[in-house]
Amino acid sequence: MNAQLLIEVSALAASFLFIYGLKRMSSPVTARSGIVVAGYGMLVAVLASFLYTFGVAEAAKPHLTTNAIIAVVALLIGVGWAWRSGKTVEMTAMPQMVALYNGMGGGSAAAIAAMVLLAVPAEGASHGSLHYLVTVFGGLIGAVSLSGSLIAWAKLDGRINKTLRMTGIQAINGSIMLATIGIGLYIVFGAGGHAPAGVTVAFFALALIFGVMMTMPIGGADMPVVISLYNAFTGLAVGLEGYVLNNPALMIAGMVVGSAGTLLTLLMAKAMNRSVSNVIFSNFGAAGDEQQGEIKGSQKPAEAGDAAVNMRYASKVIIAPGYGLAVAQAQHKLYEFVKLLQDAGVEVKFAIHPVAGRMPGHMNVLLAEAGVPYDIIYDMEDINGEFKEADVAIVIGANDTVNPAARTNKSSPIYGMPILNVDHAKQVYVVKRGQGKGYSGVENELFFADNTNLVYGDAQKVMVSMIQAIKSLDGGGH
Ligand code: NDP
Repeated sequence: MNAQLLIEVSALAASFLFIYGLKRMSSPVTARSGIVVAGYGMLVAVLASFLYTFGVAEAAKPHLTTNAIIAVVALLIGVGWAWRSGKTVEMTAMPQMVALYNGMGGGSAAAIAAMVLLAVPAEGASHGSLHYLVTVFGGLIGAVSLSGSLIAWAKLDGRINKTLRMTGIQAINGSIMLATIGIGLYIVFGAGGHAPAGVTVAFFALALIFGVMMTMPIGGADMPVVISLYNAFTGLAVGLEGYVLNNPALMIAGMVVGSAGTLLTLLMAKAMNRSVSNVIFSNFGAAGDEQQGEIKGSQKPAEAGDAAVNMRYASKVIIAPGYGLAVAQAQHKLYEFVKLLQDAGVEVKFAIHPVAGRMPGHMNVLLAEAGVPYDIIYDMEDINGEFKEADVAIVIGANDTVNPAARTNKSSPIYGMPILNVDHAKQVYVVKRGQGKGYSGVENELFFADNTNLVYGDAQKVMVSMIQAIKSLDGGGH
C-alpha cells in the first residue's frame, strides 16, 4: 500500500473512531470507554500525519515543511506534560485543565494558519482566495479561543478574581474586532494570502487581544457557557485548518468538536435562561454583591446527627449536590448514607442543576464514580416540581444553584438563572463549612430562611457523622 492511500485509510479510521467515541460519550455508562476509543482515533491520526514525510508525491503534501524531528520533539513535550498533568490533576481542578487544553487546540489551529500565511509560496503553488479566507478565518477563531480560554483558565483557577467593568468596553471590543477583520480581509484579498510579515503578526496580535478583552468582562455564573463556547470555537478553527491542510481527519475531528461544542453552548445558555449573545455582551454575573438588599432572618445551625435522624424518619428526601461535594470528595460517603436511608424505606432522589460544580456534567461524573444508580438521579426540570412533596431537601456544597434570589431579586447578579426549588421542601439542611459564598460571590437568602438549618463542616466529615448517627440508631434498638 502506498503512503498516500495509507494516509487516506487512516483518516477514515480515525474519523470513525472519533464519531463512535463521541456516540459512546452520550451515556454515563459507556462514556469512559468512549474517551478511550476517541483517544485511539487521535493516535491513528497523529501517526498517519508522519506518513507525509515518506513517499508522498510533492504535490499531495500539505504546503507546510514536514520536519519529522521537530514534530517528534513537540509531540514528546506535549505527551509528557499532558500525561503528568492528567495523572496529578485534582478532580476539582479538572475544569481549569479542560479550559487550558481547549486553548491549546485553538492555539494550534492559529499556528497552522500563521505558518500558511507567513510561508513564502513555491513558484506556481499559490492558492485561490477561498483557501486563504478559510485560513484567516480559522486563524482568527483559533487565536481568540487561545487567549480567551487562558483567561477562563485563570478565572477558574482563582488567578484572576476581578471582572473587568468599564464604560465603553463594547465600543473598544467592537473596534478591535473590526480592525482584526479588516486586516484579515486585506491579507486575503489585498495581498493574495501573503501579506508582509508585520501585517500578519498584527492580525494575530489583535485577535489574541480581542480574546482577552471579550472574556475579561464575563464573570460569575456565566463561565460555563463561555468555556463551552470556546470549545466550539476551537473545533471550528481546527476543522477549517484541516481543510487548509487537506487533512480529512483534522477536518472531521474539528467539525465533531465544533458541533458538539455549539450544542453544549446552546444547552448551557438555555439552562441559564440566557441567550449566548447576552452572555458575551452584557456583563451578567459581574455585578458583585454590592447590589444586594439586606437579607432578613438568621442562620440556624443543626447537628449532623439530628439532621440524619430526621431524614431517617422522613418518607421523601431530595439531595442537591454542588461544588463543595467535589471539593470534599464526599460522594462515596454520601452514597453510603443514601443506602442507609433507602434501607430504612426512605425514598431518596438526587436533583442535578445543569451548572452545579465547575464543569458541565460535574455532578453526574462524581455520582457515577460513587456508583449511584442513574435512575435516582434527576435533571432540574424533571424534579423541580417534586420539592414541595419532599420532607427534607439536603443541599451539600451547593450555593448559587439553590439561591432563591435568582427568582425574585432583580438586582442580583444571578437573577433569571433557573434554580433548584430546594426552598419548597418542608425542611432544608445545608451542609457547608462556614460563611463561604458560591462561585458568583453573592449571599444566599436560603441560608436564612425559616425552614433552613445549617450543618457546618466539611461535607465528607458531615456525611461520616450522619452515617454513624443512623447506624447507632438502627443498630441499637430497632
Ligand atoms: P457554588 O460554587 O455556588 O457553592 C459551593 C459551596 O460549597 C460554597 O458555598 C462553599 O461554602 C461550599 N463548600 C466548599 N467546599 C466545601 C466542603 N469541603 N464541604 C462542604 N461545603 C463546601 O456551587 P454550585 O455547585 O451551587 O454552583 C456552581 C457555580 O459555579 C455556579 O455559579 C456556576 O455558574 C459556576 N460554574 C459552573 C461551571 C460548570 O460548568 N458547572 C463552570 C464554571 C463556573 P463554604 O466555603 O462555606 O464551605
